[in-house]
Amino acid sequence: MVAGNNEISRFKKIKYERKNGWELISSEETEKIFSFCEGYKKFMDLAKTEREATREIVSIVEKGGFRLLDDIIKKGEKLNPGDKVYTVNREKAVLLAVIGEEPIEKGINLVASHIDAPRIDIKQNPLYEDSDMLLMKTHYYGGIKKYQWTSIPLALHGVVIKSDMQRINVTIGEDESDPVFSITDLLPHLAGEQMDKKMSEGITGEGLNILSGSILYRSSEDSQKDEIKDKIRVNILDILNKKYGIEEEDFVSAELEIVPAFKAKDIGFDMSMIGAYAQDDRVCAYTSLKAILDVKNPKRTAICFFADKEEVGSMGNTGMQSRFFEDILAEMCRASSSDYSDITIRRALSSSKALSADVSALVDPNYEGVHDKNNAPYINNGVVLTKYTGSRGKAGTSDANAEFVAEVRRLLNNAGIVWQTGELGKVDQGGGGTVAQFIANLGVDVIDCGVGLLSMHSPFEISGKLDVYMAYRLYNVFLIEG
Ligand code: MN
Ligand code: MN
Repeated sequence: MVAGNNEISRFKKIKYERKNGWELISSEETEKIFSFCEGYKKFMDLAKTEREATREIVSIVEKGGFRLLDDIIKKGEKLNPGDKVYTVNREKAVLLAVIGEEPIEKGINLVASHIDAPRIDIKQNPLYEDSDMLLMKTHYYGGIKKYQWTSIPLALHGVVIKSDMQRINVTIGEDESDPVFSITDLLPHLAGEQMDKKMSEGITGEGLNILSGSILYRSSEDSQKDEIKDKIRVNILDILNKKYGIEEEDFVSAELEIVPAFKAKDIGFDMSMIGAYAQDDRVCAYTSLKAILDVKNPKRTAICFFADKEEVGSMGNTGMQSRFFEDILAEMCRASSSDYSDITIRRALSSSKALSADVSALVDPNYEGVHDKNNAPYINNGVVLTKYTGSRGKAGTSDANAEFVAEVRRLLNNAGIVWQTGELGKVDQGGGGTVAQFIANLGVDVIDCGVGLLSMHSPFEISGKLDVYMAYRLYNVFLIEG
């Protein structure tokens, strides 16, 4: 028997099938997607470190009418529904809030992303000479494949704090006329031994030294010419001293980060994808930032949090595990109600809902074997919902409750947002975690959802433009209606 039309439409309804997002959207929406991503690429070029991301976010929200929460608290002013506020934690993490009509005690809608990214940090005593060159010692930050960082142009970004607390911002390698840096690799002709090693051992951590100079210092006084040792290092110190006023000891209290020197670019003949450094997780940071800028007079208080230190386990006083988030929420509870007590913040947290806005790993045709293709995300198939992360038997994940997943699913479907589910790789293939577990520990309902990436944690990560836009739409709808 041949299935009749009724039967086909019934099967269509009861079957769950993944669909390519371009099939589901209009040409007007396609235009919106492309123009949204132009702003995203600009943000990526300006925000290559957590401090720069903080600076960019603050500058954007100040233009969007957000006021510094610290000022409001200091003046003893009250927070009222509709107020937009922000606060910054040590230049590395940011919290944005739009105060809702309901008291904060009844819960908030939170979208939390992270603005740190895998990179290479300069050590505290970095400069040394070897083989007529000056190099800088480094210690990498987060999970990198070390070989990906050799033989590419690198930029130096960061801050030097002198012992008198003077702050010097450093950015070298972004301007067209700037020099760049690089980590050398071995020519194939002499790499026989290296190529026989495991990929994880071909380039070592201590081998990630930054090529930084090669001219000898030229003494103006002939008598001292032979007394000056380490002339390349002296020459570089002379340049740094004249340009930035820093001395070698200042490296001790510096945070200098090596990041790729290239800019965000469109990928493909059809320009449907974006290649950029640090899309994990600044793609979710930017999309949630844009989402909260479009929130006006929400019912529940809407909060975006941009955390630091996710890539190393969310530790430290700027990471999601620190008390900062709770402390600020307590301040906001107190500033918006007349009868604040300890239970207010506890009630606020246990009634709150959160999206852990972080990236996931797309199916890559070059490396198919690592995914369960029924439970993996595909490029431009929409924002990815991940019920649990973790590894080896769901260890290290908060595993969202089915009730909350259903709520988010309803929001997505009602708003016509293109979405898919995805798990990070096959069972026992590996795994990873996000800030979700630390938010869940506070008593908040939380699920991971964000943009899928190819080449995650590489210097040039790739996202699909449709997915970027759908993440923005989900965060916006969640902050307003979640
Ligand atoms: Mn991430
Ligand atoms: Mn990551």
